[in-house]
Amino acid sequence: MKIYPFNRIWAKLSLLLVLITFLPLSILGYLAITLQEQQVTSQVRGMNYGFSRLIAFQIYSTMRNARGVFDTMTFSRDVATIDRDRIEPILAHFVQSNPIFEGVSLFGLDKSLVAQAGRQLPLKDANRLFTSAALDRYGGTPIAKADDAQFKSLLVDERGLIRGAVVAVLNLQLLANTLNEILGLLTQAYANLHIYVLDQDYHVIAATQDAPFIEGNLFTTWSDDPQVVNRFEMSLKDLPGYSYETPPWRIVNIAKPGAIVTLVRLQEKVMQVGLLTGLVALLFGVFFGRTFITRPIGRLVNAANHIAQGDLSRPVPFVGQDEVGELADAFEKMRANLKRMQADLKEKYDEVQTLYGVAKDISLTLNFNDLLDVILDRAMKIVMAERGSIMLLDDDTGELKIEVARGVSSDVVASTKVKLGEAVSGHVLQSGRPMLIADTLKSPNFSKLKEGKIAAGTMLSVPLIAKDKRLGVLNVSKATPYTLDERDQELFMGLANQAAVAIENARLYTLAITDELTKIYIRRFFYQRLSEELRRARRYKGSCTVIILDIDHFKRFNDTYGHPQGDQVLIHVARTLKSCMRKVDIVARLGGEEFAVVCPEQSVEAALVPAERIRKAVEGSVLDLNGVKVQVAVSIGLADFPHHSDNQADLIDRADQALYHAKHTGRNRVCTYDQVLAAEKEKAAAGS
Ligand code: GH3
Ligand code: MG
Ligand code: MG
Repeated sequence: MKIYPFNRIWAKLSLLLVLITFLPLSILGYLAITLQEQQVTSQVRGMNYGFSRLIAFQIYSTMRNARGVFDTMTFSRDVATIDRDRIEPILAHFVQSNPIFEGVSLFGLDKSLVAQAGRQLPLKDANRLFTSAALDRYGGTPIAKADDAQFKSLLVDERGLIRGAVVAVLNLQLLANTLNEILGLLTQAYANLHIYVLDQDYHVIAATQDAPFIEGNLFTTWSDDPQVVNRFEMSLKDLPGYSYETPPWRIVNIAKPGAIVTLVRLQEKVMQVGLLTGLVALLFGVFFGRTFITRPIGRLVNAANHIAQGDLSRPVPFVGQDEVGELADAFEKMRANLKRMQADLKEKYDEVQTLYGVAKDISLTLNFNDLLDVILDRAMKIVMAERGSIMLLDDDTGELKIEVARGVSSDVVASTKVKLGEAVSGHVLQSGRPMLIADTLKSPNFSKLKEGKIAAGTMLSVPLIAKDKRLGVLNVSKATPYTLDERDQELFMGLANQAAVAIENARLYTLAITDELTKIYIRRFFYQRLSEELRRARRYKGSCTVIILDIDHFKRFNDTYGHPQGDQVLIHVARTLKSCMRKVDIVARLGGEEFAVVCPEQSVEAALVPAERIRKAVEGSVLDLNGVKVQVAVSIGLADFPHHSDNQADLIDRADQALYHAKHTGRNRVCTYDQVLAAEKEKAAAGS
């Protein structure tokens, strides 16, 4: 399975750590900055308010003083005379001594200019002037526009009659200069602020010294300027108590970028600390995740993969004291168990394999003696035994005799006879239980059973029992003690069971194909083997000869000495016959006093040699029948495959014809089918 890095536990852990450190920190930072911002804002607002009041008061007091001076001048009797000559010097003096006024003009009732001093007024609308002067005096909505900052007053005489009007134009530049001076003084105190005093059209009247001078309409400039972070604006008109004579100016405070420098710094610091913390958290998360989680799990996964691939040899490593460690521990236990099970299985498998091999070899062996050899050889090979034997129980004598042996001297083989319950073998067969003597010198039990000279080493003896029938004992031994153990014993028990069944079956089979009287094969087995040999001869283009043998005048033996004596003759001839043939030849009794032999891979010429040997041996032997010495003779006929016939029935028939030819031509003779043919030819020639 492929795991992407972002899916790995350490990656998730790192992300989590970054989140739980960076997130609260950023929130805290944000809150701190916002609070600080609010603080600064309210500070600026408060300063703006206070400062605006200060400025407003300054303007107000200047205006009020000016108004006082103006009123004093207008109330003077000399002015009320409307006498140009008397008024002109007064007005000139007024302007001179009060620089707040730029100029002053006096109008008569006919709205004509009577006298004036300083800057001249554009007097287009004397009517409006009178109306506003009246309103100034008697109340009403004040007209207060900064650009025509003027004081107006009606001239009233002693009798209360209106004689004219006076208008004084205020020098607002002077006011502005004053304000600039004040602002100049305040520049230090309000270092974080730029302060502007603006007229109704947002043109700068006065400003703090370091405030950037802004041309034209400040309002529009501001709206475009991203530098303007914090702006507070207040109209002098908004201030309570100063409405009258206060020009509609505005005071604007702009927090310098420097005012929020600390704020920006704080923001930067928060960002830096946040990033640093996040980075540290990330590094820590990666390190921690990899060291304490991914690596142990990785080692565990590695070990588990080895197990999955069937490699149980590597122990699961120790990965820690935590849950992963617990898991690894469980894996290790599982691996150890699996390994044990695997070893057990392997052992069992080897055992089964061995037993299977033995069973196969045994099943291929039908000959009783060959079978015993195979069993003993296999048994010894399995445990690499130096000595071994199979002892079989003779039912007649009730004694165990060594049937096959290895590493045992022949006289011991011949002389050893053990009764049931005696010695080791007799004991094992009687009890039906195996016996393992790990060290022959140290086993008191063994010494007791053995009762004689004991050879050093180890020994195993298992009973051969088939279907509750005690057959014998299988013994193996080795010269080195403790080289045979319980496992070998167990394996041998399995082997012994198979061997016993095979031995018993072989015994029954041998019994079934053996003639009881003569102990050679019966007719049926002869036919069966003959057909097998013919098949082989056909396949390998070889030859096979059949010999048929009949005792001459056998009836006489029976008649003269009795049937049992006749049987003795039969036994004698069978023995002689068998002794003259090869091991591979199949010697059988066809019935009565007739015998037959299959000679595999032999032509009639070759088989003639043993045939003649038989005839001579029988002829030459003297038989003692109850003290009477008798002589026997046999007639023999031969035919072979493929010369005389290529099928079984004809082959036997032709051998039989050869036998009868021998009988007819004098008995105690050996004849081949060729002789039969020659005789027939002769006969035919004589006849014609
Ligand atoms: P030849 O073969 O020489 O022509 O003469 P023969 O006397 O051997 O001939 P025959 O075949 O007539 O005799 C066979 C005798 O064998 C007949 C029978 O009584 C005897 N016989 C058959 N089976 C047995 C047996 O199992 N035991 C004994 N003792 N005699 C048997
Ligand atoms: Mg006969
Ligand atoms: Mg006969």
